Amino acid sequence: MCMSRKTTISLIKCDIGSLAGHHVVPKLLLDIGEKNLRMAKEKGLINSYYVFNVGDDMELLMVHEKGESNPQIHQLAWDTFQAAAQKAMQLKLYGAGQDLLKNAFSGNIRGLGPGVAEMEIEERASDPIIVFAADKTSAGSFNLPLFRIFADPMNTAGLVIDPNMAGGFNFEVTDTQEGKSIVLKCPEEMYELIALIGTVERYVISRVWRARDNLICAAGSATRLSLIAGKYVGKDDPVMIVRAQHGLPAVGEILAPFMHSYLVAGWMRGSHWGPLMPVGIKDARCTLFDGPPRLVALGLQIADGAIASDDEGKPLIADMFADPAFDMARQEALQYASMMRRMGEFEPARLSVESMEYTTLPMILEKLKDRFKPIQG
Ligand SMILES: [Mg+2]
Repeated sequence: MCMSRKTTISLIKCDIGSLAGHHVVPKLLLDIGEKNLRMAKEKGLINSYYVFNVGDDMELLMVHEKGESNPQIHQLAWDTFQAAAQKAMQLKLYGAGQDLLKNAFSGNIRGLGPGVAEMEIEERASDPIIVFAADKTSAGSFNLPLFRIFADPMNTAGLVIDPNMAGGFNFEVTDTQEGKSIVLKCPEEMYELIALIGTVERYVISRVWRARDNLICAAGSATRLSLIAGKYVGKDDPVMIVRAQHGLPAVGEILAPFMHSYLVAGWMRGSHWGPLMPVGIKDARCTLFDGPPRLVALGLQIADGAIASDDEGKPLIADMFADPAFDMARQEALQYASMMRRMGEFEPARLSVESMEYTTLPMILEKLKDRFKPIQG
């Protein structure tokens, strides 16, 4: 039997500047991404690519055989974001280059601002993949659906009826404040897992493996821009890669948690709780109070080191949330948005004061500090 082929999926994103505030990446910037990745494909660096945007974030989906954290792949993404940011600066687009926090590239794009989800897989007979990309929220937003997908038997029928999933799944949780991680196994440590990942602003599920054979199933970005920069510089806007079928959750089980909207941290100025709205690519643009936070899911198949493509080499991409089945979640998102906005700047509509530490709120509080007088008597 021949060794199965190793293929890497890299999804790297960056806010390089957008049209009219934090709304949308204009096509001419996406074209720069398209051109750079086409050239990289022609040179043989990558085998497939797909450039898209979710709100103000440019997303570079690349499939190659160079493994995770490869300096050439990361350099390609870095140079592409730099080129797009240059154009955005010329046009004085909003927040041009805002996520490019460091000036020099040093081999790995992690820690420089852009978000990264990467997964090296040994190709199975058929390998369905769902990639998720969100705007106006943070990495912990995926904790709830990842728990549902890989640990909740009320969501994922396979946990109950597929013997290949009976051993459960291992979850790597990153503590984004301390820069540490821990692995917990479900179902055995389900309650401990929830104890951590319920704190969505600190603990983030960064990877999931099938417990019985350590097969990689999910990989997400777990960066906190504010912790890199030391101040509020934009939303983390996470990305995630999830693998489906053949002893893993089915595509429909991966999408099922998004039947309902739920509240995530982010939205206006990265300072509010707001409902996550699953949308098709054409609606992946943030408007109302710079939101509501949007989520896109793209389906693809990995085939021989590349994305399964048509005869012209164009990747076959399924826009999973462009479907009336998610209308209810979108309606709920609007209802929750209306409820939260009615509360204005009163908690819990606004994030807690601890979470506001990296925003401009402390400057306001500082101004008032000396006017506080001790209470007499
Ligand atoms: Mg964004």
